[in-house]
Amino acid sequence: MLCDDVKRVVYFFLDGTLGDRRNHDFHEHLTLCPDCERRTTIHRRLRAFVDRRLERLCAPDRFKTRLSRSLRGIAAD
Ligand SMILES: [Zn+2]
Repeated sequence: MLCDDVKRVVYFFLDGTLGDRRNHDFHEHLTLCPDCERRTTIHRRLRAFVDRRLERLCAPDRFKTRLSRSLRGIAAD
């Protein structure tokens, strides 16, 4: 796998939909290529961040009410 391949499939890799063989190639490339390793880490963090935000949006209504109330409280200060 080359750097361009890694860039192209990084989202599949993070999704876990890359397939065993390409997953293995991906990992192998990361151990040899610090640039791709770093980029993949950034993508993973970004995804984790977005996932957490989405989770929060899907939180129970009670929680959302409490959250928006406390946010309003902060805004009113
Ligand atoms: Zn690379």
